Amino acid sequence: GRVQRDEAEEELHRRQRIFAEAQERYYEHPPQIERGWRHHLIDTTGRSYIDMVNNVAGLGHAHPGVARAAARQLGSLATNSRFLFRGLAEYSERLVALMPEGSGLDTVLLVNSGSEAVDLAIHLAQAATGRRTVIALREAYHGWTMASDAVTTSAYDNPDALGTRPDWVHVADVPNPFRGTYRGDDTAAQYLVDLSSDLDVLAAEGRDPAAFLCESILGNAGGVVLPHGYLAGAYDRVRESGGLCIADEVQVGFGRMGSSFWGFEQSGVVPDIVTIAKPMGNGYPIGAVITSRRIADALSAQGQFFSSAGGSTLSCAVGLAVLDAMVEDDLQRNALAVGDHLAEQLRTLAQRHPLIGPIHGAGLYLGVELVRDHETMEPADAEAAAICERMRELGVIVLTTSERSNVLKIKPPLCLTIQSADHVVGMLDRVLSEGW
Ligand code: PMP
Repeated sequence: GRVQRDEAEEELHRRQRIFAEAQERYYEHPPQIERGWRHHLIDTTGRSYIDMVNNVAGLGHAHPGVARAAARQLGSLATNSRFLFRGLAEYSERLVALMPEGSGLDTVLLVNSGSEAVDLAIHLAQAATGRRTVIALREAYHGWTMASDAVTTSAYDNPDALGTRPDWVHVADVPNPFRGTYRGDDTAAQYLVDLSSDLDVLAAEGRDPAAFLCESILGNAGGVVLPHGYLAGAYDRVRESGGLCIADEVQVGFGRMGSSFWGFEQSGVVPDIVTIAKPMGNGYPIGAVITSRRIADALSAQGQFFSSAGGSTLSCAVGLAVLDAMVEDDLQRNALAVGDHLAEQLRTLAQRHPLIGPIHGAGLYLGVELVRDHETMEPADAEAAAICERMRELGVIVLTTSERSNVLKIKPPLCLTIQSADHVVGMLDRVLSEGW
């Protein structure tokens, strides 16, 4: 106990001395993690935790197939996409094959992170349309680079986000049916009227949009499902005004929804540009933009495109191993089965604990919204933070998200088992019974 705890505190101090203050960190006194296995983390004291948040390790920690592929590649060749090597075209073809049949999303650009993918998507949309304006939704997170940060409108990341967006970003209202301007699943028409008037204003100002960019499920809000018909209506309106539609699937895509591989498929739409990253490398940094040949070719007018590690031998080897494992381990189906079960258990728990408000999400992207009052939806943020600390003591890693830090985000490795899901619900039940 004590010696290892001192070791973790010492590591924390080292980190604080060398890192910028703005660098995000979880927990006041974080455990020092040493090892991961499937959906478990083990700290230096030998304690194990169920990891309910790591969607980057989508296959689970320390996946042997991915580790083998990476080791093999590192032992043979490290080069980049300017050269010809086995795996580059195959990986790109396999990514495109994940897109809906007949979608025209047939061209791939490989990068290294979600922020880069969003940056490049904006770049592509502006190049293809010859316009500058990008419409982003309120309360969204899209990355830290200049362009992806510009469309990041969340006050969670920057309290003055709305007051400091560059002039090429237009912020539209977020269609959150639980606590937005209009409430309920039947509010799409109202949000769309407002979006249409935004488009009219932009047109009158000579600022017609290059693109409309959003997550197909509101990831930053904890997996809030959009009101029925909103995304299709928004895409129609944006396209009528000559803009392109970008789906940011970095967080919600790649099999996690369970009933579909991509978040946008839940709304029956087909975007013009798709951004992906996080789980593509199961911990190794890989990102991609998938679009049509016409849009991708707009880049040629501006010169050449190259990323040193995007589409490298290692990126392709790891990326292919991840795609193989997704199929072999049947993870999309597991996300559906375990996710449905977990959501149902959480809804049952909500009947006994009034602090639990709506359960958001689909598959293994869920959000447990904690509220002090179901009418006013007053966010139970302090309670959420305390619950996370207590859950950690009990061996469960779960963290908060949303603008109001009052949603427990649940996005574990997709190999989560029913037994572990039940254990987590049991622990949450125990914590909520301890005096809330
Ligand atoms: N888009 C979304 C929706 C995200 O959630 C994130 C990361 N949280 C990003 C983009 C940026 O990805 P990265 O951290 O890999 O740059």
